[in-house]
Amino acid sequence: MLFLFLPVWGQECGMLHVTPASDNYAQPNGTLGTSHASNFCIDLQIYIVRNSDGSNAFDPPNITLAMNNLNEIYNTHGIYFNLLPLSYINDSRSVYVGTEWEAILLMSQYNNPNALCVYVVDSMWSLSGSGPLAGTAFDIPSSRTMLIAYAFERSTFAHEIGHCLHLYHTFRGTSARTSGSAPAERIDGSNCHTAADKVCDTPADPDDLSLTNYSPDLTNLMSYYRPRDHITEGQAYRVREALLKNSLFQNIQGNACTVADVVMTGPESVCPRQSSVYELVNLPPGLNGGANPFWTSSDNISFTTISSTEVSVRFLSSGEQEGTLTARITVNGISYWVTKRIKQLSPPLTSAITLESFQNAPLYTNQFNTVTARYNGDIDGGVLAYSWEWVVPSSSIQNQGSSYSYIKVQPNFTYNTSIYIKTRTGNQCGTTSWVGKWFPVEYRTGRGRGGVDY
Ligand SMILES: [Zn+2]
Repeated sequence: MLFLFLPVWGQECGMLHVTPASDNYAQPNGTLGTSHASNFCIDLQIYIVRNSDGSNAFDPPNITLAMNNLNEIYNTHGIYFNLLPLSYINDSRSVYVGTEWEAILLMSQYNNPNALCVYVVDSMWSLSGSGPLAGTAFDIPSSRTMLIAYAFERSTFAHEIGHCLHLYHTFRGTSARTSGSAPAERIDGSNCHTAADKVCDTPADPDDLSLTNYSPDLTNLMSYYRPRDHITEGQAYRVREALLKNSLFQNIQGNACTVADVVMTGPESVCPRQSSVYELVNLPPGLNGGANPFWTSSDNISFTTISSTEVSVRFLSSGEQEGTLTARITVNGISYWVTKRIKQLSPPLTSAITLESFQNAPLYTNQFNTVTARYNGDIDGGVLAYSWEWVVPSSSIQNQGSSYSYIKVQPNFTYNTSIYIKTRTGNQCGTTSWVGKWFPVEYRTGRGRGGVDY
């Protein structure tokens, strides 16, 4: 009789316990990617289980492939992994780890306290109803994970490392196979700070493709979809916060990730039709030259010139957009990725500016009156990153600062008249023409004294 088993490896993750003391890392608004100035370097201790006589119990896993899969996902977020020399566990009884208890016993015998420990075995215990495990992180967060060799070479490895570094499943709280108790995330994400994975830029994930009203991230590392190839800015922020603040991670960080020191210099914002130069500095010695580093970019960016350590690039079309520039650096066979996000700005448009006084009233003497420039109908409260200049004759002025598109004007007259106020705005890509308007001035007495704002 022949039984044919369809492999389900990699489908199941054995996250069992979810009771961290504190799992809240408040996410700021704005640019999450620059929330930590320096990169993180995590020392990895990989244990390969072999037969008691030291012979291989299974085909040796491809460490380089596994490390590359891991680095490609985390490096772009400033999180690097340093591979310590391999360790072997020669113990035939541990080639198949039959229970979680056996796993914990094994890990207590072989445990580098100064590294994130990764145990690679041939097979692991079954979860009822879902077949054998591919990997587990034992806790969230945790400093140890165990995987079967097959899953170690696939996204399961980076997924379990994600659990270790305090990431939950994107579908937490929504499914029977979800570990731990948490409220599910609402479809509109309105409870994203406290529900599911507690990350707001991962959309609500029901882990069920038949529910068409959801739009989950189908390639997110912490989902159960395939393929899984990335974590979000919000997830990366959560990991970096955990690395910074959780006592569990203070001993496992080192400074041996020389590639983590590599910096890609060059402008973060550029203008249309402009080529900009980006250079890698602090490169480790011993690179092969030629195609090392190997440069790639997002589809909307093209290379003008390219050399091993320096390129010039430009966006293919004008208009505001974002793109990425990536250099892959290979050291001793293991690759690392250095990525820079580049934003293309548009020069502001003269035709988008309109001027108005508060409630279109005249400008009264003896008081400050607000005059507002709208850009495309909106008041620039600094979000456009434009700078504003004003010309206002015969008046006292209170300016709110050059990044705000409004000023307060007190005309210095003792009779009714009108004044011509003009403004213009600019960014690094250009400045608009002046846009002006006549404002009637109405002379008033006794309504407060100069400088008093009604
Ligand atoms: Zn998992």
